[in-house]
Formats: sequence, C-alpha cells, structure tokens
Amino acid sequence: MIYVDSHCHIDGEAFDADRDEVVQRARDAGVGAMLTVGTGNPHNGEIAKAVQVAENYVNVFASVGVHLLDARLYDDAAESHLIDLAKNEKVIAWGEIGLDFYYDHSPREVQREVFIRQIGIAKDLNLPIIIHSRDADEETVEVLTEYCSGEDFRGGIMHCFGGMAEMARSLMEIGFLVSFAGNVTFKKAENLREAARIVPLEKLLIETDCPFLSPIPHRGQRNEPAYVVQTAKFLADLHGIEVEKLANQTTQNFTDFFEIDLAAENAKNSNK
Ligand SMILES: [Zn+2]
Ligand SMILES: [Zn+2]
Repeated sequence: MIYVDSHCHIDGEAFDADRDEVVQRARDAGVGAMLTVGTGNPHNGEIAKAVQVAENYVNVFASVGVHLLDARLYDDAAESHLIDLAKNEKVIAWGEIGLDFYYDHSPREVQREVFIRQIGIAKDLNLPIIIHSRDADEETVEVLTEYCSGEDFRGGIMHCFGGMAEMARSLMEIGFLVSFAGNVTFKKAENLREAARIVPLEKLLIETDCPFLSPIPHRGQRNEPAYVVQTAKFLADLHGIEVEKLANQTTQNFTDFFEIDLAAENAKNSNK
C-alpha cells in the first residue's frame, strides 16, 4: 500500500535541519511520493529551492508558481524565472495559485489578475494547476469556470479543500480533483467532512500541506508527510472503506493525473 502526499512544503525552512530524516520517515510510513509546492518570494530563489529539493529525492516532485499571498510580487522577471524553473523535469505542476480574501496580503484585483495570468502560463506550458482558495470560494469557482476549459487545459487540483460541499461539486463538474488535508480531522470541521463525503474516491487526493495543519493526533506539532497516513485513515472511515482501498485509489489518481510511473522512477534513481 502506497500513500501520496499530494501537497507539502518540505522545501521550506521548517525542514532545513532534518529534511533527510523527514523524507525517510515518510517512506517508512508508506508514503511513496510527495509533491513539494514552491512558495515565497519569486525574486530571491525561494521557489527554486523546491526544485532543488525535488531533484535530491526520488519521487519527490515540485510545483512552481506565485502564491496568492504574494501576488503583489508578480512581474515579468518573476514570470520568466518561474517559466525557466518549470523546464526542470521534476516540475509537474504550476501553483499554488488562487485567491485569498481572508488575509488580503495583496489587493483583490491584483490577486485576480495574477491568478488568471498564471492559468494562462500553465496552459502554455501544458502543466496542471494547483489551486488554493480561502474565503473566496465563489470568485475562485467563477474564474476557474471561465478560464479552465479548452484542449490546452491540463486539469487542476483544489488543494486543502476548505469550502462547502457545493463548491466541491462545482469543481468536480469542471474536472478538478479535490484534495483534503489534516484539517478535515479537526473537531469543528463538520462542513469539510460533509464535502469529503460527497467527493467520490476517483476524484479524491490526500495531502499534509506541511508544516501546517497537522491532523489529529499530531495537532499543534510540526506537520510532515508521514502524517498523511492519519488523514487517509480518517477519510477511509468517513467513506466506510478500508484505508488500503483509499490509499491505492488516491495514489492511482495522482499518478494518472500527472502521468507518473513511481516504480519506474524508483528503478532509475535507486540511489536517491
Ligand atoms: Zn495553500
Ligand atoms: Zn500549500
């Protein structure tokens, strides 16, 4: 049984001191692949670090993009830097991009403009997109519905799903996968559980979004990819199935979506 952590930030500072151990613990727990999502300032090498980390470990992949909170930092230089990074074969997605009206670190019009711009870049590069939405569900769905169609659109993932069941439904209608993080295990997250129940296994992914959002029983500690197993167990219970089935299906969803062969990657990089 293999799990995939479809969204983590193991390239981040929080893991600088013990990244090798963190990756090893994940593998020991059965996590066969991880997607580390590069975030931060697109002008000072922070996003390039995600690509470096992915290059260091077999079956760790990277995504690049300007995060919604940093939308104000988006400009031509950032864009060409990221397009350059995306040429690396370990980069399999563009993101995370989207809208966050909770923190409002960047003006909403800027967020929207940069969001749409990056959807276009992902299409040009034939990369899937990873979406984050916070307190902006309606606007996010509206943008995705308008811009994520056509033959050049490679599909997308709504990561760390935090909306209502209705939003999950709209996203699946336009072909998105829906990924749940550790917060679905939180006591007060009944709305998330309601959404998780209506997402069919074939559309489901699991993630940690670490170092944030540790699932119960690790809540309050630094999160890490090994803990995706807790979220898998929780979601399997919710769906009334064995965790094995959920792990196998979510892994299959990931490898099909990104067209990755984990066994072949392992064979060709057995030293990493
Ligand atoms: Zn996010
Ligand atoms: Zn993230």
